[in-house]
Amino acid sequence: MAAENAVNQNETLEFQAEVKQLLDIVINSLYTDREIFLRELISNAADALEKLRYRSITDKDMLDPGLPYEITIEPNDQDKTLTIKDTGVGMTRDELVENLGTIAHSGSKAFFQHLVESDRKDLNLIGQFGVGFYSAFMVAKKVRVLTRSCRAGSQGYEWVSDGVGSFTITPVDGLSRGTSIMLELKDDAAEFSSKDNIKRIVQRYSNFVPFPIMLEGEKVNTVQAIWTRNKNEIKEEEYAEFYKFIANAFDDALFRLHFTADAPVAINALLFVPGENLERFGFGKMEPGVSLYCRKVLIQQKAEGLLPEWLRFLKGVVDSEDIPINISRETMQDSALVAKLRKVITGRFLKFLGERAKENTEKYNEFWNKFGIFLKEGAASDFTYNKDIAPLLRFESSKSEPGKYISLDDYVERAPENQKNIYYINGPSRELIEAGPYLEAFRIRDIEVIYTHEPVDDFVLTNLAEYKGKKLVSADQADLELPELDQEAANQEEQTLEGLDLRNLTAWLKQTLGDRVEEVRESKRLVDSPAMIINLNGFMTSSMQRVMQAVNKDFGSMGGKALEINPRHKIIIGLDLLRQKDEEFARLAAEQIYDNALAAAGLVVDPRAMVDRMYRILERAINE
Ligand code: ADP
Ligand code: MG
Repeated sequence: MAAENAVNQNETLEFQAEVKQLLDIVINSLYTDREIFLRELISNAADALEKLRYRSITDKDMLDPGLPYEITIEPNDQDKTLTIKDTGVGMTRDELVENLGTIAHSGSKAFFQHLVESDRKDLNLIGQFGVGFYSAFMVAKKVRVLTRSCRAGSQGYEWVSDGVGSFTITPVDGLSRGTSIMLELKDDAAEFSSKDNIKRIVQRYSNFVPFPIMLEGEKVNTVQAIWTRNKNEIKEEEYAEFYKFIANAFDDALFRLHFTADAPVAINALLFVPGENLERFGFGKMEPGVSLYCRKVLIQQKAEGLLPEWLRFLKGVVDSEDIPINISRETMQDSALVAKLRKVITGRFLKFLGERAKENTEKYNEFWNKFGIFLKEGAASDFTYNKDIAPLLRFESSKSEPGKYISLDDYVERAPENQKNIYYINGPSRELIEAGPYLEAFRIRDIEVIYTHEPVDDFVLTNLAEYKGKKLVSADQADLELPELDQEAANQEEQTLEGLDLRNLTAWLKQTLGDRVEEVRESKRLVDSPAMIINLNGFMTSSMQRVMQAVNKDFGSMGGKALEINPRHKIIIGLDLLRQKDEEFARLAAEQIYDNALAAAGLVVDPRAMVDRMYRILERAINE
């Protein structure tokens, strides 16, 4: 029917069968996230304004050219109504019938299938198939649409429906350009006539809609979609304000990454590393902080699965026009598109960090101090990215100044070409590591050792396994193959060994310590300490054992440990003599040596037994 024929005629039209079916579900569903209807209606209003903006470029005879481009929301808690008004393109009669009476979009079948079959009527999906408008019937018992097309000389219309079976279209005079949608709220949906509630919902879902949203004379979407603007045109203050808004923060961001990509997916992303890591201050595990948009319309706030979990400290937005609007939480997680987004963004962000590290070491170190723990988490747990994270890791080492960091690249560059391994040792502090026995063999050979201070470090380095062709090896592992010492040191070794019955001593020690150690053997690497604990299990470093012991204090006995003794050390030489003269006291000394070695490895010792033993040893030393 032509539009002219409809003028001055009331007509009642049936909804298309699929629409009836859909409305039946929408009206009767007990869907809990009903507030998303407002996102749908605002998104439609914004679309209409966007179309108008485009059309205005060529259409010189547009209706009401002086009207501002804006969306107005009018809640009325007396009448229990809510009106959403826009000054967009509006609709002709035919457009009304077509857009609000049928389902033009293909693919809606799949949506029906989903709705009909699932018990949980996930209406969040509703916009995905071009039927977002009908979500109004989740909260409204009657919907009244007043609309007038922007075409010059157009007629205005009223569209009314209670969502059951049919709708009525009536010509209306005196309308200005655009569309006004009035919802007569259901009795159980009165909350949507409250101004405060509406304001909250608008700010939650539609804050970055690029047209002003007015609520009782107040513009409630405060922040613009600045991520879609050209980088060069955005002022620092605007970025700063946006960061504060999106991160709910009061400080300034540490880093900002604003980038666009076209392939393999269209992405416009604006990401911030916050000024502080709140997890560090015991605020509990952070929620993801990056929201997903499609053409400035919020798809999912703080989108789970958009980025790897270890990037949960990032704040910001990702806008991709390739993402279907209203993709559901469930679909998000395993969508191939989201996987692509994740890959591109993560790769880009890691590259960005690498650039920052090169550009300004001090600032990168500040980042590392605050957020390094997240990169470690990624390197330890995420096998997709751990190779990319590796160059970003920072450590102290035996060749770094205290408090300064080195990278694995620094280590590899410095190491002699024939050195096959990268060595690391874990301890609570630089002082404790350097006082312990494990460094001795490295120090005397001038081999750099990375110091790690957190248990996660060992998981990171164990998982990484190698870097640039060099194996990552914990300095407390058994079977370290260190280069031979020079001749002089070797001679000295020979001399001190004279007179020591090493085979019998190690056998005696093993017998004395029993199950506490799997093996007692001569150390090839100790220089200044009498003994040390070595891990026979290649994957379990002492620091990992410390973690396990913290969970289960009996874990120590499962570690598979060896005691290595230094046959050049006075205490060991003396012990061999003592066991032949006074075996009982020698046994005490052996146990003390073992406990000391455990303590040097940072492992748990029984303090009561140790103190007791110490007194007995002291008593003898003092009285002799
Ligand atoms: P979608 O927005 O995905 O197309 P909707 O069900 O939300 O699906 O809307 C259907 C159609 O109705 C829109 O495509 C548009 O043509 C029309 N429409 C809805 N709201 C408005 C509005 N405020 N102004 C102009 N046209 C509108
Ligand atoms: Mg829509």
